[in-house]
Amino acid sequence: MNIYIIGIGLIGGSIALDLKSHFKEATFFGIDSNESNLAEAIQLGIIHQKANFEDLENADLVIVSVPVDVGLVILPQILDKINDNALVIDVGSTKFPICEVVENHQRRRNFLATHPIAGTEFSGPKAAIKELFQGKTNIICEVEKTAYKQQELALDLFQKLGMRIRYMDPKSHDKHIAYVSHLSHISSFMLGKTVIEKEKNERDIFDMAGSGFESTVRLAKSSPAMWTPIFKQNKDNIIETLDEYILNLTQFKELLQNDNYDEVFNEMQNTNRIKEILK
Ligand code: NAP
Repeated sequence: MNIYIIGIGLIGGSIALDLKSHFKEATFFGIDSNESNLAEAIQLGIIHQKANFEDLENADLVIVSVPVDVGLVILPQILDKINDNALVIDVGSTKFPICEVVENHQRRRNFLATHPIAGTEFSGPKAAIKELFQGKTNIICEVEKTAYKQQELALDLFQKLGMRIRYMDPKSHDKHIAYVSHLSHISSFMLGKTVIEKEKNERDIFDMAGSGFESTVRLAKSSPAMWTPIFKQNKDNIIETLDEYILNLTQFKELLQNDNYDEVFNEMQNTNRIKEILK
């Protein structure tokens, strides 16, 4: 089996590490615009060798794990190159634009649109870890547009990675993910910005930062190169979530300004419900 990972960073690398233990006979190839990432991926044992687009006709499986703006450009080119039996899976964090760009491609049935809800704030092959996807959810969009044989292979792969499957249309995916992922990242980036601007002396931040600050600001370490195109592609949904979030922040500020501590208490108590939702 020939497995090609295009974008050999955190997600592509983590998928390769897990699949390697299940497909011991397979050859893992890496395609990436970053030569040092490719060299590192070989050195770390994530891939066997590097390859290029012309080799894709030999692929049985192609995982596309590049920033979402790059995915829009290269996915049609990948589908142009593959053979009729290959399966191409993308893992990008937005789903509507990528589904739209290949809608009428003659090899649309070789493609499956997914979003594994798993990750860390780190990037590149060094960030790849085993069992990243164990017990996590994988959102699959427009499954009916993928050929049955390719669907079967994909489901077998996700089972091997230990993932639960949720099916969703791409528009709903992008709307819901704006709340639980994209807004969380913006909120973390802006919390980090607010504290850094106030505390120009970084030593003070480290000395006083408890685990609350650290866990809330963790996502602000994420890669701007990966997140800017996500925010661009999901702009309308994100602006809606930001409007609601800013309204909540403003209302909370007004409660404090008005010394309305009963409502401050109630707001927090109502939100404690998150404990039951996220056990
Ligand atoms: P990453 O660690 O930065 O890996 C992406 C790799 O793609 C890097 O090696 C990058 O090189 C390379 N690349 C950039 N432009 C390219 C191009 N034009 N052609 C080929 N390779 C290119 O990013 P990641 O976190 O794995 O994210 C990959 C995808 O997974 C994204 O679509 C993201 O939305 C999605 N995703 C991420 C998470 C998460 O938590 N991180 C979770 C679920 C899904 P450089 O290092 O030079 O940029």
